[in-house]
Amino acid sequence: MNEEILSLDQYLNMFPWTESQKAAGDILEWLWHYEVKAPVDQLWPHLCDTNRFNRDLGYDGLEFVEKAGILYGASGTDRLRWEWIEYPWDWVYGRYSIHLRTYTRGLLLHNRSGYYLQPLNEGQSTRVYGYIGSVFDNPLGRRYLKNYESRFEARFQSVFRKIEQRLLGRPETPNVYEIRLLEMGQNTQQQLEAMRERLVRLGLAPTLIDRLMQYLFEADQIELQRIRIVPLARVWNVPLEDLLRVCLGAVRVGLFTISWDVICPHCRGVRLEAPTLAAIPNSVRCDACEWDFVTSADHAVEVTFRIRPEIKEVPQAAFCSAEPNKKRHIKIQKNLPPSAQNEVIEVFLPAGNYRMRVNGFNDLSSFEVRGEGLMDGVVGAELSLITRQSGKVILNNPHPRPVIFVLEEVRWPDDALQPAEVLKQTGFEDVLKGQPEPTIPVT
Ligand SMILES: [Zn+2]
Repeated sequence: MNEEILSLDQYLNMFPWTESQKAAGDILEWLWHYEVKAPVDQLWPHLCDTNRFNRDLGYDGLEFVEKAGILYGASGTDRLRWEWIEYPWDWVYGRYSIHLRTYTRGLLLHNRSGYYLQPLNEGQSTRVYGYIGSVFDNPLGRRYLKNYESRFEARFQSVFRKIEQRLLGRPETPNVYEIRLLEMGQNTQQQLEAMRERLVRLGLAPTLIDRLMQYLFEADQIELQRIRIVPLARVWNVPLEDLLRVCLGAVRVGLFTISWDVICPHCRGVRLEAPTLAAIPNSVRCDACEWDFVTSADHAVEVTFRIRPEIKEVPQAAFCSAEPNKKRHIKIQKNLPPSAQNEVIEVFLPAGNYRMRVNGFNDLSSFEVRGEGLMDGVVGAELSLITRQSGKVILNNPHPRPVIFVLEEVRWPDDALQPAEVLKQTGFEDVLKGQPEPTIPVT
């Protein structure tokens, strides 16, 4: 059964602009749709990776800075400089994501963009809607939007075709997006060769050193911004401990730095990057989640590696704030205006253990999904914020301020390098203290 194609009006009924946004100026908006021969579950993780998707679309790199829990975005320079507030996104797993930007500099007042997914052919394929809408009061805004935004219809089409081809295995590749490599000039290559020699002289396994070196040439820049070795050890089928020792050696010889990343238990974002374990305070606050947490808790610290910028600068540009991708455990995130009543969300969840909460408050209720869309044992909500009705979550906000509702998976993926694993390695005490001893004089 194929569902009817949504009109723009129908879409706007589901995702309306607020009255004050509409009153602020003119609106120009597009709703495109594409049919992709892949089920929603297969497509969703890639669709959420808006950082890579937007890079393939040809968007420019963006800058993001968080101040007091609010995310500020910017792009361009001088007269073509754009600056905006990036609000927390709304998304529902497998159904939609949408986000709002309010501009403080540039030709637009507000911009919203998002995806909406319709399963087709009994779930075998998916109709993906791409929406872009902007409010502007500057006459140049219209011209800009017509020239710039309208080009994205064809670009979306082309990226979706590539995703589809790769999901269908033609050509077979684990990466549905283009890989962008670091540019390794001759100078860098020579430095890496010298580093390799030093690592070999430390007595580490040459085959694994070579594998790691090869990785620096083959991995996507986005991956190299923060090197996570547990997934690498799995893919390369090597013992984690061996790879870890090579990486600790790489810190000692000056190729890598080690980073003790403090992870917020709610958004699971990196809140602090410390050079040593000792430099981590006992408690850290996540302003975005309005939450203080202790750093001795399980999963609170993950150890990662970076290439030393003196060896190779890894571009840090983002192409999207990509919240649904960074917070994969969060299946539903929804902004609720003050005193919002009866916001209905249809739930479509994979099997797993979940809990619901509101930013700034702890766990409200936990429940298990045994089959898709079936919920069991939802406990009464402390804040009378949530009730449940046959596969739907109905949200009410009794507070006079906006809140963010979250439904998340309880489980942590076991892909983070735990401090205990690092601390038990002998012979790297200097590295762990943050004062690697140079083994060979630098020439
Ligand atoms: Zn957080």
